[in-house]
Amino acid sequence: MKPLLEIRNISLSYHTVSGETKALSNISFDLMPGEFLAVVGPSGCGKSTLLNLICGMLPAEEGTILMNGIPPSPGDPRIGYMLQKDHLLEWRSIYRNILLGLEIRKEKTPEKLAYIEKMLDTYGLDKFRTARPSQLSGGMRQRIVIAIALAANPDILICDEPTTALDVTIQEGILNLLKKINREKGTGILFISHNLHVVRKLCTRVAVMCQGELLEEGPVDQVFYHPQADYTKGLIAAIPTRRKRG
Ligand code: ADP
Repeated sequence: MKPLLEIRNISLSYHTVSGETKALSNISFDLMPGEFLAVVGPSGCGKSTLLNLICGMLPAEEGTILMNGIPPSPGDPRIGYMLQKDHLLEWRSIYRNILLGLEIRKEKTPEKLAYIEKMLDTYGLDKFRTARPSQLSGGMRQRIVIAIALAANPDILICDEPTTALDVTIQEGILNLLKKINREKGTGILFISHNLHVVRKLCTRVAVMCQGELLEEGPVDQVFYHPQADYTKGLIAAIPTRRKRG
């Protein structure tokens, strides 16, 4: 099977008046079709820089990023992007928020509109089509963000801490929806998270980053039960475990 996304030997530094910051050093990994890959690491380790490169928003200084053999470009419909906070436009109805991407790209074809109808139906969002964003709860708004990310029927969904801003009780529903999309549609998911419980439950593989480097990457069970890097060992040791009372 060919990788959906191939990241090879990516390096990038920011050059500012106060000097150079090496944000990424020689990063390589693949995302296979249908894979649910978590990227974990502390703040400042380069996760956002990596996402911006994958979305074609930043050019790499060294290395290549290919999606099915073609480099991604800004606004590439092959990639859906879901952020921590939603950016829904209050002056558009939910349905017109979902259509915005297609309108901007001038891709409002009957096939694409039919796909959106099917998606709204599948994910139980149809009843919200005429609502305004402020009429919905945080959890519902985040479901709409997923629908927007999926509107162009992308091959890859990138989720940057998609549930951090939500209540724990609501997080579960959003994460289950992502898992359903991954299983049923086979969408490859790149999932940035600080929550290792969620990563272990949801993801098939995990990549651990620190200070711009990819320390290790592998199936979730392998990395959780046999971590190689000291940083990963510390992360896993710090996961709170349930203790028996008494
Ligand atoms: P993360 O998303 O993991 O928090 P970032 O990719 O935002 O990490 O940052 C990686 C490194 O690059 C950090 O040291 C950060 O300070 C630096 N950095 C990020 N964006 C810029 C920028 N626009 N200009 C200069 N340095 C930056």
